[in-house]
Amino acid sequence: MVVNVAISGLPLHRTFSYLCKYAVQIGARVLVDFRGRRTTAYVLETSELPPEGIKLKSVINVIDPEPLINEADVRVAVETSKAFLTPIGKVFDLYFGGHGEFSTIYAVDSTKSETNKRQVLKKWLLSHGVEGARELVSNGFATIESDQKAKSSSRKFSEYVELIASMNEIADLKLGKNQLMVINYLFMKPKEELKVLLARLGIDRKTIESLEKKKLVRLEKIGVSSWIEKKEVTLTDEQLKVKESIEKDINSQHLLLGVTGSGKTEVYFELIEDLISQGRSALLLVPEISLTPQTIARVKGRFPEANVYPYHSNLTKRERAIVWWKAVLGEPRMIIVGTRSALWIPFYKLGIIVIDEEHDESYYQTTEPCYDAAVVAKIKSKIYGIPLILSSATPSLSTYYAAIKGELKLHNLKTRPVGSMPKVKVIDMRRKGPGERIISHELQRVLEATFNTGKVALILAMRKAFANYLACTNCGYIFRCPSCDVGLSYHRSTHTLKCHHCGFVHPVPAVCPLCGSKELKARGYGTERVEYELIKRFPAAKIVRFDRENVTSPAETERLIKDIVEGKSDFVVGTRLISKGLDAPNVNLVAVIDADRNLSIPSFTARESLFQLLVQMSGRSGRRESGISLIQTLEPEDEFFRFVKQNDYEAFAQFELEKRRLFHYPPYTTLIRIVASSSDPFIARKALEDLLDGIPQPGSGVELLGPIEAPIPKLKGEYRFHIMLKLEKELFPEISATIADLMDKIEGAKVKLNCYVNPRSTFP
Ligand SMILES: [Zn+2]
Ligand SMILES: [Zn+2]
Repeated sequence: MVVNVAISGLPLHRTFSYLCKYAVQIGARVLVDFRGRRTTAYVLETSELPPEGIKLKSVINVIDPEPLINEADVRVAVETSKAFLTPIGKVFDLYFGGHGEFSTIYAVDSTKSETNKRQVLKKWLLSHGVEGARELVSNGFATIESDQKAKSSSRKFSEYVELIASMNEIADLKLGKNQLMVINYLFMKPKEELKVLLARLGIDRKTIESLEKKKLVRLEKIGVSSWIEKKEVTLTDEQLKVKESIEKDINSQHLLLGVTGSGKTEVYFELIEDLISQGRSALLLVPEISLTPQTIARVKGRFPEANVYPYHSNLTKRERAIVWWKAVLGEPRMIIVGTRSALWIPFYKLGIIVIDEEHDESYYQTTEPCYDAAVVAKIKSKIYGIPLILSSATPSLSTYYAAIKGELKLHNLKTRPVGSMPKVKVIDMRRKGPGERIISHELQRVLEATFNTGKVALILAMRKAFANYLACTNCGYIFRCPSCDVGLSYHRSTHTLKCHHCGFVHPVPAVCPLCGSKELKARGYGTERVEYELIKRFPAAKIVRFDRENVTSPAETERLIKDIVEGKSDFVVGTRLISKGLDAPNVNLVAVIDADRNLSIPSFTARESLFQLLVQMSGRSGRRESGISLIQTLEPEDEFFRFVKQNDYEAFAQFELEKRRLFHYPPYTTLIRIVASSSDPFIARKALEDLLDGIPQPGSGVELLGPIEAPIPKLKGEYRFHIMLKLEKELFPEISATIADLMDKIEGAKVKLNCYVNPRSTFP
């Protein structure tokens, strides 16, 4: 027979034919010789007759006598590759995520005798076959386990270092350089995970132990991962109505549009429950790894009978592989809570897909293979014939547009069952005195009131770090990243300069490298600076910083979130990370320090994302009782803030959609952005020019921008140019096929092409 295959790991859009003397099924992996190398390939199609006159190579070997992905999965991959112009072999790789190797995974088969119960999965699979194994697993006779029982339970503890001495006690002591670094660090963050602290400061455990002997710090072990949030819930009339209207047409695709705190979760939990009770599995996607602990805690509390697992890149490879095999072999009543990669788990019995906070940008994978998880979920739910629930208070405009056009069923939740919608106030930051540049007097007063009543305030700043860059006041020199065309941020707690794009870190220099002046000044501000201001103003307050600098490991995240939820902190300062579904009672103030900072981002979605951020952020306030939200801005008169104040998503959406229509942006057109990067700027630009030569000229339903420098023209040592094509939607299939062919020809060792179809942002 002849098989048509996609080659694993290959950055190409096309597929290849091989002769195959073995019987092989669609979805199976085979081993082929590709350009002189033995490579894994995925079977997309089979046919009996070889094409005439063409000599084909033969398949070397069949990896899967029974495929682990089925024909529906194959169709999902093929359609995804077409919809996102993304290399087909790399899309198939997403299904396996390296879980093929499984020497340390075991099957525990209760149909076997006591001594034979535990077998290496590979061996067990060989003796039963995939179908036989599924029969046993899905009926509860066998389970998939790790051999690392002891090790995984010891992972449930994390070690922390806590500062226990006061500034005065330490001031008179003679400390070594490393000891001082630790103390300085802990002044900014009194409690840190040991592992993180050691890695950050590049020191070893001895330093900490020496400080412990001096009784300046304390080491303690904290248990994690036993967090379960139980909540008894009965649906309100409004929630019940929505649930029933979804059930009427359960196997369609639904947009659950509900104001923050309206109980969207309760509604889809009910739907999940129905499917779980039929023995099927559920996939719940969340935008942020850092939020999986809270979501997991809630899902476990709600579904004590279900098998609930997290799935994201912060788990070890083995942890992920075990969940993957459980899903592939059909463990019953599974609920997987994961980030976008979980969408590619080839479930045996998937019953429903829910995407929570559907608007979140992290659902768009911006590294190859690029795709939008919300769109892939639509493709998957259609091909599988299973329900898809997209849930958000501020859905992406393209999802909302699809819903009002009837492609998705729209369901509204307009009220909060408890608490009330926060009062939103916009503060004019123009003409403020020097003492009010970061925290206005108005905000200061409300912070005081919140602190005095023992409530919690969430404070959002758009950037991390202490200052956005460091400049020489004598000659104007700005410290820049050597590999990226951006200024380096100044981090006070570690006394370093840092590139937030490539991770470059450098100690703060004493003098300007250009003129030798010592007058270096930090400019702009971020979360660390806001935290510093708050410490100065509220020395007695417990302040937590929640950004990607501080929230580094899952254990640390879980501890921080738990503290916030349990009300152990007064002020939480963070980046947009804190807007992502963090649900803490007792929050009655939300403050946004620099609301308009992101409006200048060169992307057609900048206003959409800012609106989503501000509404989501405000929505953290008043979950249990009344709350307020204060937004500081330099552009208070922009009508944009009118919609924010009224918390009116649909009015904003219609206003913004009208602009998209006028300027031919998605969802009215299909936007294709192609970024070329190369160590040589001329090669990068030339690649795009060559590509454009092969595409029908603008004017016939195609608008073109570029090639021009990308918003950040140099990143990680590569020069970047981009083009943007806006196409009438009907033209997409034909033009995208042409582009795919051209990309296969142009891309090479010297230039990398990245293609984004309807991206959620065109930055950087
Ligand atoms: Zn200088
Ligand atoms: Zn950099």
